[in-house]
Amino acid sequence: MRRFTVRAHLPERLAALGPLSTNLRWSWHTATQDLFARIDPQLWADVRSDPVRMLGEIAPTRLDELAADADFLAALDRAAADLDDYLARPRWYQNQIGRNDGTGVDVGNGVAYFSMEFGVSEVLPNYSGGLGILAGDHLKASSDLGIPLIGVGLLYRAGYFRQSLTADGWQSEHYPPHDPQGMPLRLLTESGAEGRDVPVLIHVAMPGGRVLRARVWIAQVGRVPLLLLDSDIADNDTEMRQVTDRLYGGDQDHRIKQEILAGVGGVRAVRAYTRLHGLPDPDVFHMNEGHAGFLGVERIREWVTGADLDFDAALAAVRAGTVFTTHTPVPAGIDRFPADLVRHYFGGDNGQNESVLLPGLTVDRILGLGSEGDPAVFNMAHMGLRLGQRANGVSRLHGIVSRDMFRDLWPGFDADEVPIGSITNGVHAPTWAAPEWMELARRLVGPELVEEARGWERLQDLPAAELWRTRAALRGVLVDEVRRRVRASWIERGATAAELGWTDEVFDPDVLTIGFARRVPTYKRLTLMLRDPDRLRALLLDEQRPLQLVVAGKSHPADDGGKALIQQIVRFADEHEVRHRIVFLPDYDMSMARYLYWGCDVWLNNPLRPLEACGTSGMKSALNGGLNLSIRDGWWDEMYDGENGWAIPTADGVVDEHRRDDLEASAMYELLERAVLPRFYDRDDSGLPVHWVEMVRHTLEKLGPKVLASRMVRDYAVRYYTPAAASAARIREDDFAGARALAEFRRRVDSGWPGVAVTRVDGTGLPDTPEIGDRLTLRAQVRLGDLAVSDVEVQAVIGRVSEHDELVDVVAVPMTHVAVSPADPGAGAGEIFTADTELPVSGPVGYTVRVLPRHELLTGPAELGRVTAAAN
Ligand SMILES: *Cc1c(COP(=O)(O)O)cnc(C)c1O
Repeated sequence: MRRFTVRAHLPERLAALGPLSTNLRWSWHTATQDLFARIDPQLWADVRSDPVRMLGEIAPTRLDELAADADFLAALDRAAADLDDYLARPRWYQNQIGRNDGTGVDVGNGVAYFSMEFGVSEVLPNYSGGLGILAGDHLKASSDLGIPLIGVGLLYRAGYFRQSLTADGWQSEHYPPHDPQGMPLRLLTESGAEGRDVPVLIHVAMPGGRVLRARVWIAQVGRVPLLLLDSDIADNDTEMRQVTDRLYGGDQDHRIKQEILAGVGGVRAVRAYTRLHGLPDPDVFHMNEGHAGFLGVERIREWVTGADLDFDAALAAVRAGTVFTTHTPVPAGIDRFPADLVRHYFGGDNGQNESVLLPGLTVDRILGLGSEGDPAVFNMAHMGLRLGQRANGVSRLHGIVSRDMFRDLWPGFDADEVPIGSITNGVHAPTWAAPEWMELARRLVGPELVEEARGWERLQDLPAAELWRTRAALRGVLVDEVRRRVRASWIERGATAAELGWTDEVFDPDVLTIGFARRVPTYKRLTLMLRDPDRLRALLLDEQRPLQLVVAGKSHPADDGGKALIQQIVRFADEHEVRHRIVFLPDYDMSMARYLYWGCDVWLNNPLRPLEACGTSGMKSALNGGLNLSIRDGWWDEMYDGENGWAIPTADGVVDEHRRDDLEASAMYELLERAVLPRFYDRDDSGLPVHWVEMVRHTLEKLGPKVLASRMVRDYAVRYYTPAAASAARIREDDFAGARALAEFRRRVDSGWPGVAVTRVDGTGLPDTPEIGDRLTLRAQVRLGDLAVSDVEVQAVIGRVSEHDELVDVVAVPMTHVAVSPADPGAGAGEIFTADTELPVSGPVGYTVRVLPRHELLTGPAELGRVTAAAN
């Protein structure tokens, strides 16, 4: 059956409901939600708070009533005016741009942000987990900050899947199809024949002369447009129609087609959008993970065919404006394709033939961008790093792990010199903090609360009793939601209403509530809590100080191991004795997650360190005053401060996984027994857990401003987008003179580098027993072959000598070119460089001299991955 949705015709006076329902800003604006609820509270609940559905189902007579209801009209006008103001008023970015005090940002012609998934709202279920939610929060925070940004991705007909449980606790998957007409989307159109608007169609050439076509939907996320490509149209053959059927479904061939559409088609969609809206082309292209990496190849093609650049110059130009963010610390988590598959799609006759996917580019150059050790494999993360002049991981620890993981791309450099930085993820407070908290905080702090992350210290003024009342109220809301969902799940599992009376008694609004909800890959260790079932049972059933546990999460449909873990939890939670204290709620998604973050007192996270790149659910809990109980992994490694929760000790060095699980589970139980539970149940005369509430206050005040998506996006704007936009503008000047020069330089370095050598190093000037701060004079003789002195930076590298005979804690001191040495029969002629420097460290000290490429358009001397050090 083909379904479709008919949108209601709104009376003229209610026309403003249209934009209020389709601009997804309503999803983080409580006043707009209240307005829709007011139309018909029962219907609002029935359509699960979906304004577009609501307007589709509301009776016309009710609309006529509202059009004559003065109170409603006043509220409508207020909401409409508020949205207009939000869209038009200068925001943080508009106030920063052009400032010269070091805080200035300028993203030039804007940013195009590519991601395979976007979790903006449950009414647009186009995500599977953390990566997508992060992308959604990135768009919302960019909108709040006023950063000119366009999101780009795919619209999946069935999104990810909906999860339910079988009677024996096995996960089953459903893929209800979505109708774009019933979602807050509009088509990108242009005027066609006879002035009629027709949908813009993006074309991507496929092997054998076929064409993959896609229309472009626009979701409006506040000020930010999100372009979503959709191949499910009649112009495509069946195979091409299915390209955007599901997120992360299908085989490698299916997946590469999706990634080609997202990357190559995505750039074409951006071009169509900016052309039709009279906007400039974005300067910065941000790849949120490597999936959309083909965007860089398409941009190379644009300049090769449109600006008459060769591949290398176009690559230099693309790199200048490209930012790549990596999200996985596990090599197995990286997207890889068989090289032959890439050849299949990007090959063909490689001439100027229009029917080839990227005319003008040879497939060997494309393969080179994704090469790794194994020539049969194409690595999307490597391509991301080769296409982006700037790259980052998503927490401080993940930055360290990433520099180590990708260091082979920068041979000869220490891991800490690998040019991959980090920006710690954040979460969008107006989406994830309960309205109660937002209201309290806005009253206390004011509008600078979120965008500027200022004023949070004023939470000191909040009475402890009020803090606690809010926490307790939100726990109560969660308890109701748990009961509703447990009952619904049992009905789906085949129970009848008559045997479900007990579900009204599930959970207790006064009991310490712990949440654990996330996808179910092995490293997240869903079942660690079951390591010692009797110990867990005792905690759940303790008469004086019990705890209750709510668990949720989806396993990838192809991962039976993950489904078995879910089944273990479900079977335990089904036990008669404990079923009122532990629940597994099926179908974890944004709408459920919200209740968990609001209501849980403690958020549990026990990944295998360091495999959690960042993690964001704990941040959402913290924004609601939840205390984290977590392994020090991802964000928690840098933000745990001793007072904002608890760190589960890790058994990092223990190789035997079972033993490691035992040790870490035992540490977790112990923390619960000795620290968490006693503190929660330690009450003063008025029943207030004074110490607990102070931890809640401390968490909100100190952690709150650090975990905000606005902080994250400001970091990107200042540290990545602004320099990338400047590089991109500069490299294009004078008909791409910089791009041509940098490409030429790179070719010279590539061919000339084998001729570079440090032939001699002398150190003089130190006393017999040197002390820290004494001066050392270094003189090095360097052979440069075909390269010029201006092509290189020569550095003296001084540091402590470790037990492994390596230099650590090093300082690199640039050396000055002084002369050409007289021909020396031993070493050959060479350039002489000197430096005069202080001894920076004590203990065993060593030094060496190294040569690196230097060019004003590089971000630093490590960028090209070339270095030659003195031989000894
Ligand atoms: C925040 C969130 C995630 C990601 O949580 P992690 O801690 O990163 O695992 C996944 N799913 C939903 C619905 C979320 O809200």
